[in-house]
Amino acid sequence: MEATQDKNTPLPQEQVKVLILGSGPAGLAAALYTARAQLQPVVLAGQEYGGQVSLTHTIENYPGFPDAVGGPELTELFRKQAEHFGAKTVFDTAVKVDLSQRPFKVTSYATEYLTDTLIIATGATPRHLQVPGETEFTGRGVSYCGTCDGFFFKDKDIVVVGGGDSAMEEGAFLTRFANNVTVIHRRDDFRAGELLLQRAKDNPKMKFITNTVVNKIEGNGTVQTVELENLQTGEKQPFTTDGVFIFIGHTPNTQLFEGQLEMEAGYLVANRYMETSVPGVFAAGEVADPHFRQVITSAGMGAAAGIQATRFLEANE
Ligand SMILES: Cc1cc2nc3c(=O)[nH]c(=O)nc-3n(C[C@H](O)[C@H](O)[C@H](O)COP(=O)(O)OP(=O)(O)OC[C@H]3O[C@@H](n4cnc5c(N)ncnc54)[C@H](O)[C@@H]3O)c2cc1C
Repeated sequence: MEATQDKNTPLPQEQVKVLILGSGPAGLAAALYTARAQLQPVVLAGQEYGGQVSLTHTIENYPGFPDAVGGPELTELFRKQAEHFGAKTVFDTAVKVDLSQRPFKVTSYATEYLTDTLIIATGATPRHLQVPGETEFTGRGVSYCGTCDGFFFKDKDIVVVGGGDSAMEEGAFLTRFANNVTVIHRRDDFRAGELLLQRAKDNPKMKFITNTVVNKIEGNGTVQTVELENLQTGEKQPFTTDGVFIFIGHTPNTQLFEGQLEMEAGYLVANRYMETSVPGVFAAGEVADPHFRQVITSAGMGAAAGIQATRFLEANE
C-alpha cells in the first residue's frame, strides 16, 4: 500500500547517503551494491513494485536460472539479497525533486528525503494500444518484447503493430521462431530507417498491412484473433493470429527531472559511469537506455551506478 500524509502536516525529514528511485532490476541491483558498501541505501519502490519484471510471467534469459524464473520471484530474490546487506525498501513514490544543491531534496508522499547521492532507476513504460483485450491478454499472447517472448511463439502466426525501427527489428527477430509475421501499420509510410525497412521487406516470412489499425484483441485464454480496421475504407475484419507484439514506442519515466537533468528524446543522458549532468546524480536501467531494455542490462547498469555512487561519496567526504 502507498504511504500517505495529511496535506497540512509537514512531512518528516530523513537524511540518507544513497536514495534510489525504483524497485526494478536497476534499482535493486544499485541497492545491493551500495548496501554492501555499508551505505544503507533507501529504495523508493514506486507505484510498480519490481518494475516491468513483475509483469513478466517467465524470464528465461537471466543468467543463473537454467529452468527460468518467474518475474515476481526474481524481484523478491533481488530485494532479499539487497536487504540482507542493509538496504531498506519503502513503498512510496517520489513526487518532487530538487537537484539544485547537495544534499538533494526528494519529496515522496510520506517523507522529505535529503540525500547525498541519488540513483534514478525509474524505468520506462511500453506504450499501449489501449484497445479492448490488450490488458487481458498481456502475457497470454500480447507482448511488448520480442527478445523476451519470441521463443514462446515457435511455428506460430504473429502480428506486429508499429512502423518504426523497433517494429522492423523485433519483427525480423520474431521470424526466427514464427511461421509468419504480419506487420500492421496505421500509415502508408514507415518511420523505420531505410535499411531496416528494406531488410524486413526482403524477409520472406514478413508481410505488411498498411493504413490499418488493430481495434480489439480476442481469444479464449490466449489470443486467437484481432479485429483490423482499414482507415481508408472503414472496412473491419477479423484476422487470425496467435500473438500480438506491440512496438509503438516507450515512454521513459523522467517527467520529474525535466529542466534539471540533461535528456535526449525523453531519456536521461548518462555517461559510461552512469553519471548524469548533475554530479552525485546517477541514472541506471531503461530510464537511460532506449537500446537494450533487458533485465540483465538494467541490473548491470544499476550495479555500475551503485559502484560509482560509492566512489563519489568516498571522493567527496
Ligand atoms: C511484458 C514484459 C516482459 C519482459 N520480459 C523480459 C524478459 O523475459 N527478459 C528480460 O531480460 N527483460 C524482459 N523485459 C524487460 C525488462 O523487464 C526491463 O528491461 C527491466 O525491467 C527494466 O528495468 P528497470 O529497473 O530499468 O526499470 P523498470 O523495470 O521499468 O522499473 C522501474 C521502477 O521505477 C519505479 N518508479 C517509477 N517512477 C517512480 C518514482 N517517481 N518514484 C519511485 N519509483 C518510481 C517503478 O515503480 C518501478 O519499480 C520485459 C518487459 C515487459 C514489459
